[in-house]
Amino acid sequence: MSLASVIRSEEMLLLPTYDRHKILFEKGRGVYLWDSRGTRYLDFLSGIGVNALGHAHPAIQATLKRQAGRLIHVSNLFFHEYQAELAKRLSVISGLDRAFFCNSGTEAWEGALKLARIYARTRNTNGHKPKWRILALDNSFHGRTFGSLATTGQAKYRDPFVPLMPGVGFVRFNDVDDLKHQFDAGVCAICLETIQGEGGICPVSPEFLQLARKLTESNDALLILDEIQCGLGRTARYFAYQHYGVRPDIVTIAKPLAAGLPLGAILTTNRVAASMHPGMHGTTFGGGPLACAVAIEFLRELNKLLDHIGEVGAYFRAQLEWLKAKHRCIREVRGMGLMIAMELDSSDQAKAVVSILLKKRILINRTHETVLRFLPPYIIQEKHVDEVIRALDSALTSDATKQQRMLPAIHAHKRKHKESQ
Ligand SMILES: *Cc1c(COP(=O)(O)O)cnc(C)c1O
Repeated sequence: MSLASVIRSEEMLLLPTYDRHKILFEKGRGVYLWDSRGTRYLDFLSGIGVNALGHAHPAIQATLKRQAGRLIHVSNLFFHEYQAELAKRLSVISGLDRAFFCNSGTEAWEGALKLARIYARTRNTNGHKPKWRILALDNSFHGRTFGSLATTGQAKYRDPFVPLMPGVGFVRFNDVDDLKHQFDAGVCAICLETIQGEGGICPVSPEFLQLARKLTESNDALLILDEIQCGLGRTARYFAYQHYGVRPDIVTIAKPLAAGLPLGAILTTNRVAASMHPGMHGTTFGGGPLACAVAIEFLRELNKLLDHIGEVGAYFRAQLEWLKAKHRCIREVRGMGLMIAMELDSSDQAKAVVSILLKKRILINRTHETVLRFLPPYIIQEKHVDEVIRALDSALTSDATKQQRMLPAIHAHKRKHKESQ
């Protein structure tokens, strides 16, 4: 099928939820993707942080082939050999005790919220003030289902679907006074992304995270960290919270966990897990043998890549800082490891840069209007970074993006002109 006929069919047959780039991808290998016309693209987005080992990784392919020929699904009514082994590996790298496996990020987050509620209910046996409120952060993103939406602090995702789950308060990002002000004995959990992803790659401050830990610990509430985007090696440690020296009660992971197959997980402590009982939570597909076997392979490969992620990430950051010194339109470069953002002055300009890079056969994306987001596969090398930096340098110099920057000024001028007429 050609790109044009796929577009025509999708327009008639799918819910209109996506505004896709007009490219039909057919295959990938390593850091590259090829479209239906045989054009090669450098992938600096990795399917929004999912293809962390790049495309068609030999070890992942071998595991997939072997396991697909043995057993794909049994449901959670029976045992298979991989859930416990994967849970063991995740426990070793996270410092948490137990896991629950599901199919996506939002599903992990929903489960984490349920766990917080049931933990609070189980602890409250002597009639204290009921503890069920949740504190989340402004500008956060936790997924598209109702519980996740209810804790997502961005109006554009929430507003079309109100009313949402009640009992959620939003704290200003990294504002310790606001956190102190809003926290009380009725709060069962503080939940946040260690580094906000959709919100523009914004790391939580150490002071804020430490305060969240202190408040929850001293009130028998839980600290829940969403590491769906920033976890599993993205920041050059297994988990982003490991940069902060804080141990959370619950962590959610997903995106890269099974190298492209849908798999998410909740990780938690023995103390919290004790409040769950058979029948309270579950899933048909979650934690199947195929996805779990692949995830075990992913973690094996990740172990060899952590140092590399730190090194190539630092190189990338340094190159972006060099660009920042050169181009006044770059407001800030931030992030950790290979989760990096470059914030520009205007959203039109950021949009223009993404489309210029696409014409240069490089995939990145824009988030939070003005932020260029880089989530490359962990296997990139300095030469790939150099290619992206050269493309950005020329895009930021080009007339097209300059024009985009001028536009608001021109509009303003026109408006004034009209008004004065
Ligand atoms: C992507 C993402 C989610 C949602 O994951 P899905 O698999 O799309 O449901 C939740 N939280 C964060 C931080 C994410 O980046």
